[in-house]
Amino acid sequence: MNKTMRTVGTLLAFTLAGLAAADLHYAIEPDSVARQYRVSVRLDKAAEKEVFQIPAWCPGFYFVLNYQEKISDVRAADANGQPLKVERSGTREWTVQNPNSEPISFSYRVLADDPAPGFFGASIQGDKAFVNGPSTFVYSPTRMTETHWLTIRLPRGWEIATAMDPAGDGRYKSPDYDEFIDHPIQMGRFERRKFAAGGKPFESVFSTLRGDIQANLDFETERFRRISEAGIKFWGDAPFPRYLYLVHLDPGAFSGGLEHRSSTVLNIWNTRSLNVDTLAAHEFFHTWNVKRLRPAVLGPFDYTKPVRTKNLWFSEGVTDYYAHRLVLWAGLMTPEQFLGNMAGQIATLQNGRTRRTKTVEDASWEAWENGGFGVGDLSYYNKGLVIGLLLDAALRASTDGEKSLDDLMRGMYAKYGLPKPGFGEDAIRAELVLLGGEAFGPVYDRMVRSTAELPYELLGGIGLLPEGGGLVASPEATERQRELLAKFLSR
Ligand SMILES: [Zn+2]
Repeated sequence: MNKTMRTVGTLLAFTLAGLAAADLHYAIEPDSVARQYRVSVRLDKAAEKEVFQIPAWCPGFYFVLNYQEKISDVRAADANGQPLKVERSGTREWTVQNPNSEPISFSYRVLADDPAPGFFGASIQGDKAFVNGPSTFVYSPTRMTETHWLTIRLPRGWEIATAMDPAGDGRYKSPDYDEFIDHPIQMGRFERRKFAAGGKPFESVFSTLRGDIQANLDFETERFRRISEAGIKFWGDAPFPRYLYLVHLDPGAFSGGLEHRSSTVLNIWNTRSLNVDTLAAHEFFHTWNVKRLRPAVLGPFDYTKPVRTKNLWFSEGVTDYYAHRLVLWAGLMTPEQFLGNMAGQIATLQNGRTRRTKTVEDASWEAWENGGFGVGDLSYYNKGLVIGLLLDAALRASTDGEKSLDDLMRGMYAKYGLPKPGFGEDAIRAELVLLGGEAFGPVYDRMVRSTAELPYELLGGIGLLPEGGGLVASPEATERQRELLAKFLSR
């Protein structure tokens, strides 16, 4: 061993010790009677002043949520249990005075009154409890990238379903805060089914608050499996150690799904047939598009305020386009149903009025002030989906079937997917021009950056014709266009 190596070794040991001491140790316990969670965070190494904040929003929903309103009974104590002074230092912030820089424990209660079964927030009802991380776990702004440990204390007989990494000693752990709050936690009594896709373990978890579950859970789980296989096949990897479909069979206040890096929460009706294919595929596709391939501002996150991008149409709308593609590829939707759904989306867009005055970039940028899904009656989900369809058709036609939107997705994933930084605001346009040529620049600008009508004639390039509210094979199509259409609709 030489001297330089010795120095490096000593520094490394010192740094590792410092890191371990900077870990955050969380504990959570539901109080079913009070419908509150008791939450605590322990810092083994703390400064004279320690700041804790609660997020202003939840990744995946571009809207300010006032989680701080559910937090009460905020306290801090030193290692001997002696109270420390806590001051409310901001709308979403508390500061602990710790004059002796001793280890501290910061604790509070969270009102778990998110309309059951829970979605954006925290919920406890009967023997069911749910936590969406940003609503319940405060962060230390100076320790975002330290290890976050979690102990969950539950009543006897309750189970836990979460995609968070088990630490092996009964605790869970995440390498940073972004990941920590991106693993929703289902607790209590529920049904679970295990399966495998892409060589990774999957689980579907079903719970209902009212009556019995109506659906055949094995049948529904098999559909999840086929969708999962289609998604992994498309992207070429399964970038998670495990994946969890958390299905709430009572919508509560919000019917729909929320994506997470290794799981999704689906709030739907308790019906005999769940009809959840496209929603599940949408959220599963997000595992890549938005959770890993994302606009630069969407990870690492600034939780203190709205973060804006003009590209939500790509992260959400194009994801919705691919949701339909995945279900088609999974063999759970016929080509005719696929085209019918596309035609329905075109009709929705054309029936709107806001598209005449706002671009899809405006709809993305201004979502925060307009409920989170767009502006007026212009949804970036809807117009983004149609743009995805048109770009796919145009790329296939102009490259004689050599390239498609699939290549754009995978090309961008290779360039900008985690752990690489997210993409800039002009990156999609640049990638499109790279794939399809200079002519795609003005096409992109018209579709994404203007209020002009979309160029539906592009569908003709793969032999499709909008007719009578549907999308049909054009009788005028050439032999080559028919072949392109057959390929477009094949599994
Ligand atoms: Zn989405």
